[in-house]
Amino acid sequence: MNRTVYLNGSWLPEADAKISIFDRGFLFADAIYEVTAVVGGKLVDYAGHAARLQRSLKELAITCPLSPEALLDVHREIVARNEVTEGLIYLQVSRGAADRDFAYPAHATPTLVLLTQTKAVLDNPRAKTGISVATIPDLRWGRRDIKTVQLLFPSMAKMEAMRQGADDAWLVEDGFITEGSSATAHIVTKDGVLVTRGLSNAILHGITRASIIDIARSAGIAVEERAFTPDEALAAAEAFITSATSFVMPVVRIDGKTIGTGVPGPISKQLRELYVESRLAAAI
Ligand code: PMP
Repeated sequence: MNRTVYLNGSWLPEADAKISIFDRGFLFADAIYEVTAVVGGKLVDYAGHAARLQRSLKELAITCPLSPEALLDVHREIVARNEVTEGLIYLQVSRGAADRDFAYPAHATPTLVLLTQTKAVLDNPRAKTGISVATIPDLRWGRRDIKTVQLLFPSMAKMEAMRQGADDAWLVEDGFITEGSSATAHIVTKDGVLVTRGLSNAILHGITRASIIDIARSAGIAVEERAFTPDEALAAAEAFITSATSFVMPVVRIDGKTIGTGVPGPISKQLRELYVESRLAAAI
């Protein structure tokens, strides 16, 4: 790969982009990130990602190095420079470099990095077959609403799920599903109700989740924002995950047991189609 990446105001070949070993993103995972899908060279659901970025920064008292307008320009320019038609933009802001200390430094300059990855997000073959998940105890920290780069436990959970023969993990806390390792978890009951956990510090406030709730309601699908158990998920008609790069991805097995008919269900398929149709039409 010879991508051009963005680092603190400079456009660099990826091999030349270097940051300090004192960067607090490296030493403390004191950094937040966003992932925005790119389709047809345009940004999908960008407004939501830009808003959540500001929220994560505010929660950690990190100042955004760029104005909202400049940030959008950088997103557009990185797509153009790398000729990305389909894939994603990864953005990370850390507090910056300072002597190692648990207290936030008084005057650090935030480190801003953007890079692209090419990926078939639209024609993902897994959308046709669905994926399997394994339930794993949720041992993450208590501020999952902040999109930090502290992703080691989700990574461990995914490895454990894969060791068990599943594609991904659904995390469980106090008897309820919180979310996937890197996606929001949803079920559709036998009565056709979309159930998704309500917003709190227990989960990341998914941008795709918010879009899917809107889209479902507009399509006349009832939505309940409440926690559900693994047993409820096993008894559901359908299950799926949402995320910026998987859109709506059907889940057809939980802990080796089939959900519904074992193939992607009609509501999951309908929501994926409606998401793609409406969000691509609105992409910027
Ligand atoms: N939950 C977690 C833990 C995630 O990592 C992600 C994706 N980064 C999501 C949910 C989905 O969020 P979004 O739809 O904004 O990508």
